[in-house]
Amino acid sequence: MHCVYNVSMSVTELKECWRCEKLKKETDFHLRYQILRNQRLHICEVCILEEAQVLGETPTEIRGVYTHMQLHFKNLDKSMYKRFWLKAVS
Ligand SMILES: [Zn+2]
Repeated sequence: MHCVYNVSMSVTELKECWRCEKLKKETDFHLRYQILRNQRLHICEVCILEEAQVLGETPTEIRGVYTHMQLHFKNLDKSMYKRFWLKAVS
């Protein structure tokens, strides 16, 4: 007799946003399928929209910046993002 494990696809993965530091559903993070090979951004969509307003850019542009960062900086950590915000807010 076989024991079959039913792996539910509805299990929600949680991910921490590197900006607001909240645990959110993975689906709250933008997926750059083509560019980041299925990786999601470290920044949640709520923060992206907030940033877009502060900077007066479109959310697409902001996502582009973070995609670029994730793509080109292998050892990214939260502190690097923090420095990035300061510029935007001040
Ligand atoms: Zn966030």
